[in-house]
Amino acid sequence: MEVDLIVGLEIHVQLKTKTKMFCSCKSDYFEKNPNTNVCPVCLGLPGALPRLNRESLVQAIKVGRALNFEINEKSRFDRKNYMYPDLFKGYQITQFEFPINTNGYINLSSGKRINIYRAHLEEDTAKSLHEKDCTLLDANKAGMPLLEIVSSPELTSKEEAKEYAQKIYNIVKFIDASDCDMEKGQMRFDINVNLNIKEKEKEFRTPIVEIKNLNSFRSLERAIEYEQERQLEEFMEKRIVLEKGNKVTRGWNDTLGKTIFQRNKEESDDYRYFPDPDIPPISLDSDFINKALDKIDILPQDALDKLISEYKLPKESAEFLTEDKIFYNLFSDISKKYTNYSTLANWIITDVLGIINQSGSDINCLNKGKFVEILNAIDDKKISVQSGKEILKESILNKDFNVSENINSSLLVSDDSILDNTIKKIIDENSDLVEKYLSGKEGVLSFLIGQVLKEMKGRADPNVVKEKLLLFIKK
Ligand SMILES: [Zn+2]
Repeated sequence: MEVDLIVGLEIHVQLKTKTKMFCSCKSDYFEKNPNTNVCPVCLGLPGALPRLNRESLVQAIKVGRALNFEINEKSRFDRKNYMYPDLFKGYQITQFEFPINTNGYINLSSGKRINIYRAHLEEDTAKSLHEKDCTLLDANKAGMPLLEIVSSPELTSKEEAKEYAQKIYNIVKFIDASDCDMEKGQMRFDINVNLNIKEKEKEFRTPIVEIKNLNSFRSLERAIEYEQERQLEEFMEKRIVLEKGNKVTRGWNDTLGKTIFQRNKEESDDYRYFPDPDIPPISLDSDFINKALDKIDILPQDALDKLISEYKLPKESAEFLTEDKIFYNLFSDISKKYTNYSTLANWIITDVLGIINQSGSDINCLNKGKFVEILNAIDDKKISVQSGKEILKESILNKDFNVSENINSSLLVSDDSILDNTIKKIIDENSDLVEKYLSGKEGVLSFLIGQVLKEMKGRADPNVVKEKLLLFIKK
């Protein structure tokens, strides 16, 4: 028996706009008191008329380009009719027949192309808060602009699904179309999973299961893994196969690590889609599309290519720096003043981001001019790499820290006799360790180097210290 996994992904991305999609309520509803960020339009009160936010079109066009879509000049909003407590109007405004973006794709690292059917605009619903014996509703996010990115079911493992989702996350974030903060619900995944089973020359497909609203890459992977096993077991036991009408929705319980049956999935006929009479069809001219595209200064793939071909960075460093636009911008800015590019990349990746992650400080705390001053001082052999790292750390953690002064007080001692005398002193004080070293315990050498550097208050080059130490020990 041969079992193949079939996964399709629908990714909901909350687009970055100042206001909601069809009204002037602000988009920064997060942590506001429930139902305070609302108006008659997003509450769906009778007679209230929606007006389309142009910014949501701009963001959708940007994503369209970045994910290789055909951006359609003509698209339309439809009403998707269904009853659910978080949908006050009884219908959702979405794009059914004529979405703004169609036929896109991205390539996975293996080179496999994943086709993306469409990316359509729609409004978000209210938030349900399930209490013990009731459900509370908060309409602050109702009417937020979403882009639903629908892949073709070409993903064949949980790893592929995760990589696909991560790539979309990186790309959408890079072009600043969304912050994609999953904790804030700005990116959510719906997955469609089933199996193709080959058994004794026959092929079977298990019913498609949809799992909605996954909010992390980890739960995405776990839900697929669980469903793959469950469907196989169910097939072996009940032999139920895919047919029209037996698609189901199951919910993911992260604590139990299980999917749980929720309801039979509606077919699209059940939604009674029809064109929204309140919103005129969208007709984009090339000028509007070009202006939207101008807002992308560089696509992530182009940025990656640039770092590798122009700046000659190793692929891993280039990939790291293009994971986040902030890293890329940082590198690009500083590279105008400091041209030892691979050194710069290493310092940003290892030291700057290391300090920032460890201390929880903001990347804006890095003063680029001072950073370059430190790098130059190291290159000119004025200070040791170690001193440079310490000065960098202090300068990030404390904005009043005086970098120039600290470079001056950390200058490498140029007088050889001072270093020589210090090394001799450390050798005399640690004669037992020197003997250990001579008897083959090479590990003690780094301790001795450390002692010398300490005595020199960091104002010696560790490589020079090592060389001299070896020379003196052998004398
Ligand atoms: Zn509103």
